[in-house]
Amino acid sequence: MSDLDSVTSLTGEPAATILLAEDDPVTRMLMTRFLKKAGYEVDAVANGSEALDHMMKRYYPMLVTDWEMPEMDGVALCKAVRNMQLDGYVYALLLTARDSKEHIIAGLEAGADDYLIKPVHEAELIARLNAGRRILNLEHSLRAANQRNRILSITDALTGAYNRRYLMEQLPRELERCRRYAYPLSVLMCDVDHFKKINDVRGHAAGDEVLQQFAARTQKSIRSTSDWVARYGGEEFLVVLPETPHDGALHVAEKLRDLIAATPFPTRNGDCAVTASFGVASTGPNGPDISLKVDKLIRAADECLYQSKQNGRNRSSGQEVELTMTLKALG
Ligand code: GH3
Ligand code: MG
Ligand code: MG
Ligand code: MG
Repeated sequence: MSDLDSVTSLTGEPAATILLAEDDPVTRMLMTRFLKKAGYEVDAVANGSEALDHMMKRYYPMLVTDWEMPEMDGVALCKAVRNMQLDGYVYALLLTARDSKEHIIAGLEAGADDYLIKPVHEAELIARLNAGRRILNLEHSLRAANQRNRILSITDALTGAYNRRYLMEQLPRELERCRRYAYPLSVLMCDVDHFKKINDVRGHAAGDEVLQQFAARTQKSIRSTSDWVARYGGEEFLVVLPETPHDGALHVAEKLRDLIAATPFPTRNGDCAVTASFGVASTGPNGPDISLKVDKLIRAADECLYQSKQNGRNRSSGQEVELTMTLKALG
């Protein structure tokens, strides 16, 4: 799965859902009732271990927990929550019957954000939870901004494909994964034919449109769950096909070549017939050799691309790296 797909959307404010852990049934019922009245969605449980079970199943932005409970108390729960990898920050409020300074310090050090001394004053609890929500909203918008920055930093602005930085960061990981599981891996180097002429005849802006559509067509013709496209340079794209042997990759290249050549690209300056040449480099069927590095694989694809250009363009050529190094010309 690509990074862009795995980014969950962070829009709007996080839902105001509270997980309430309180062993006393009457207090639990009363607190649930007034938290709901204050506009919160509430799931209530009777101890820390039940609360942890709930936390593992879904993300609760707010935790209100009693200190003294059987099985797992509120402090142990706060500690456990701070060690979990969750979808966002959990604002934890601890309810305690004891008000000694040492006690309160121990609660805050265990990971609680705030505490209230029982018996709980309803208006104060709501005011403190609302203050917690302000912090959660801030954390949420920071996370959303980080996600946007991450996406921008790995995306090519013109085409929306991954950029070269992402390629050089991610391809070694793909190669390593295929090495570990003994899967094959292929890459396609695609280069628009006579693109300079397209720019010269239709103008640079129309050339840009061709590049955008080239990336979109490429994206559509590959498996969205595992394959991905990066803009390698001006009018060059690299398609990464994990777990794909050489024959399969040649097939993908030919399909893509057909798809590009079959339908002209509409631009602001008229329809534009476009062809592209492809160079396919693959590891052997049992995955990459330990000595195979990303640059060698890319170089092999580039050599094949050169071969396709030499043989007249609008074609694919390929080679298996490490094993046979045989050159196959198609198209
Ligand atoms: P060949 O068939 O041998 O690949 O010829 P070509 O003309 O496609 O190749 P060449 O490398 O000579 O030219 C690539 C051109 O792509 C030159 C450059 O101005 C243009 N180019 C690079 N980036 C962009 C871009 O972002 N937008 C546009 N419109 N053109 C670009
Ligand atoms: Mg209790
Ligand atoms: Mg080029
Ligand atoms: Mg070109």
